[in-house]
Amino acid sequence: MPIPNTLALPARAKMGIRATCVEEVQEAQRYCREHGLPFLALGEGSNVVARTHVAQFVCLMGLTGIKVVAQSPREVLVDVAAGENWHQTVSHTLSQGWYGLENLALIPGSAGAAPVQNIGAYGVEVAGLIDQVEIIDDQGELQLLDVASCEFSYRNSIFKTRRDWIITRIRLRLHRQADVVIAYPELQADLAAQHQSNPTPEAVFDAVQRIRRNKLPDVNINPNVGSFFKNPLVAAPFASALKDHNTWLKVFPQDGVGEMVKLSAAQLIDQLGWKDRPAAEVMCWQAQPLVLVNRGKADSDAVLSFAESIRADVLSHFGVHLELEPSVLS
Ligand SMILES: Cc1cc2nc3c(=O)[nH]c(=O)nc-3n(C[C@H](O)[C@H](O)[C@H](O)COP(=O)(O)OP(=O)(O)OC[C@H]3O[C@@H](n4cnc5c(N)ncnc54)[C@H](O)[C@@H]3O)c2cc1C
Repeated sequence: MPIPNTLALPARAKMGIRATCVEEVQEAQRYCREHGLPFLALGEGSNVVARTHVAQFVCLMGLTGIKVVAQSPREVLVDVAAGENWHQTVSHTLSQGWYGLENLALIPGSAGAAPVQNIGAYGVEVAGLIDQVEIIDDQGELQLLDVASCEFSYRNSIFKTRRDWIITRIRLRLHRQADVVIAYPELQADLAAQHQSNPTPEAVFDAVQRIRRNKLPDVNINPNVGSFFKNPLVAAPFASALKDHNTWLKVFPQDGVGEMVKLSAAQLIDQLGWKDRPAAEVMCWQAQPLVLVNRGKADSDAVLSFAESIRADVLSHFGVHLELEPSVLS
């Protein structure tokens, strides 16, 4: 079965189905258990580097449906099935007057994948809006996980280690009164340019889309998976020593992670000139060097070896380890 992926890599799974309800997912998972096949849930393939031959049973999550399960004057609890498109979910909730997701507009992919890497953008992470996640566990049983059990952190969650759990539905806790998050500098600059001093959630939604369209390549024209590396978290004294020698270095304090600070992976890559060092089949995107683009004919080897050259360069120049953001499917 061909594997959909936004890097446009040629990739096929040994076996697979598109499941449209929980029972179909459970049946496929049972089949894999009985036949000793590794099982993999997949959404829209916007955060994977798929090998040419994937030896797993791939279950494309096609479950749909968005419904309100409870509401008060302040909040609304909304269930979103795993196969719903994320951006359409953001757009739909906003149109209903349910606020909170506006900063996460235009992130590609499915609702079911959103908790996996705790998607985030422009100062908001989905973890802050999730109330529960419904999964099928490794024994085929449906379970409800509360937020604490999801172990969310920066671009991470328990679902990155429990690959045998399948997310079937997420429950979002959204606000009925606007409470916009606009501290992110790029967002502030865009809103100021639009003369929006007291922006509505709709204005934030529009601003985020404008910024993303300017900065990120369209996957249909320039195939990519968004950020290829996570922004590195490093010890504060290490960052300070690095900044002594590299005064341009941006250092971002982190709440709740002790003495750790965040660096900008894009800045490190940019400083080493990778935007101007394209390989035959892969390149860094000019407006955002953290994004690697398939120039047309790349396979997973070409993409991963280009990424490895960048990682090695950043490590040898700055002593900073870059971690891959997408999952490699093999
Ligand atoms: C142009 C571009 C911009 C991006 N910008 C951002 C951004 O701003 N912020 C951000 O956080 N991410 C960003 N991403 C990454 C990506 O959009 C998200 O990670 C998204 O959540 C992936 O959704 P998907 O359905 O495509 O997941 P897939 O790529 O299909 O899967 C990703 C991983 O999740 C697992 N998975 C998928 N669905 C399920 C499920 N139902 N149950 C269990 N596991 C599952 C898969 O096995 C795989 O390991 C961007 C990607 C692109 C291409």
